[in-house]
Amino acid sequence: MNTSPEISAFYEEEFRDTIATVDANGKRIWLHPKKPKGSFHNKRIIATVIFLVIFITTPFIKIKGQPLLMINIFERKFVIFGQPFFPQDFVLFGIGMITFFVFIILFTVVYGRFWCGWACPQTVFLEMIFRKIEYWIEGDARQQHKLDSGQWTSEKIRKKTLKHFIYIVFSLIIAHFTMAYIIGIEETINIVAVSPAEHWSGFVGIIVFTALFYFVFTRLREQVCIAICPYGRLQGVLMGRNTMAIMYDFIRGEPKGKLTRNPEKTDNQAKQGDCIDCALCVQVCPTGIDIRNGTQLECVNCTACIDACDEVMIKIDKPKGLIKYASQESIENRVPFKMSVRAYAYSVVLVLLVAVEAFLLINRSMVETTIMRVPGQMYQEQPNGIISNLYNVQFINKTSEAIVLTLKVADNKGIIRIQGGKINVPMQGRADAVFFLDIPKNQIVNIKTLLKIEVYNGTTLVETVKTNFLGPAE
Ligand code: SF4
Ligand code: SF4
Repeated sequence: MNTSPEISAFYEEEFRDTIATVDANGKRIWLHPKKPKGSFHNKRIIATVIFLVIFITTPFIKIKGQPLLMINIFERKFVIFGQPFFPQDFVLFGIGMITFFVFIILFTVVYGRFWCGWACPQTVFLEMIFRKIEYWIEGDARQQHKLDSGQWTSEKIRKKTLKHFIYIVFSLIIAHFTMAYIIGIEETINIVAVSPAEHWSGFVGIIVFTALFYFVFTRLREQVCIAICPYGRLQGVLMGRNTMAIMYDFIRGEPKGKLTRNPEKTDNQAKQGDCIDCALCVQVCPTGIDIRNGTQLECVNCTACIDACDEVMIKIDKPKGLIKYASQESIENRVPFKMSVRAYAYSVVLVLLVAVEAFLLINRSMVETTIMRVPGQMYQEQPNGIISNLYNVQFINKTSEAIVLTLKVADNKGIIRIQGGKINVPMQGRADAVFFLDIPKNQIVNIKTLLKIEVYNGTTLVETVKTNFLGPAE
């Protein structure tokens, strides 16, 4: 971020050369953050409950027989808001993805890593479930540190066994729901109901996900946010002086200094800011950083430091908000938080993309028909003066019910002969067929005639497809 020379004096940029969780020898420093508590944490508990309700119920919700959300990457089957998307919908899907990324960019430009602290599954599961289990079994930071650095006593074995047993159970639960988002809830229940021998791939999938979640939430932990998550890496380019983030109000807090009870203050103590250098904000931080150094990539906006500092401010009878949600601009210039020009520009792009996506969605055909003349075939001349062309046709039914389709040449310019006269297309499935198209020779003017073929579901016209008809020149 750009800062004026006076203000940059407050930031000691050397801290950016090291990571709080890695020592000088490159070894991981295991963090024992202090248990968070306070009004922001209480709000995060409510947000967690909402998140969990959505996470658990979504796979069970159906819209016209379709899941609300299913991302089946193995079979390339995607259902979003009950709408199935097929490989043929790649334009729609592509614009949808671009819209989603622009939304993420816009959101991050304005609100920074708000998502990370309040709704990211990694933070929610780690901070609000796995770490809470740890606090419950092993106690607060100090007791955890003592337990980890102590001998293996029967109490330590009991606590560690219990904790890891519960961790495995929670990892199993999360793995099952993750599978439900990929292959659907029915298929997941099916895997659970039968023996592993009858559903090897599903069983292996659940074991792999369980092991992955267990590893992420017991060992990797904050390293996911600091070193692995691509969204975290984007922060450096997306955040600006007007981005909202969790900030230390250094104008108010500096120069920091220990609290003194002596009424006779020295000159330095008289000039002291509101920060009493108690380091509680650092002790509660799950990524081990000191937010007083300025905005940092490692900060996941968990709000624990706000609560810790507010508690200190109440105790020393100072206003709350020494650490708060604010932008760098608003802290440096004491102005209210406002959106930047860049944020307005992204908003315009986002509105346009949403409009295009909505138009394409509304006009999306639920039946996709592809008609092509059989390769290598010219035309056939029947003895009764009829010219015939042979075609391959493929139908894709994107609806959630089976349909019966018929074909007709627009304006009665020809007759279609198809075996059985009708084509049955299963729900969300595909059907292939071959048909002849007949036109009397005396109606053919050119070697190549452009025709429109209408596709009917009962009496409803669902699609019109253009194709060519070959015939003899006049
Ligand atoms: S908790 Fe507040 S007062 Fe204590 S060190 Fe952090 S910023 Fe300063
Ligand atoms: S700096 Fe504050 S908000 Fe950021 S991760 Fe640490 S405790 Fe959470």
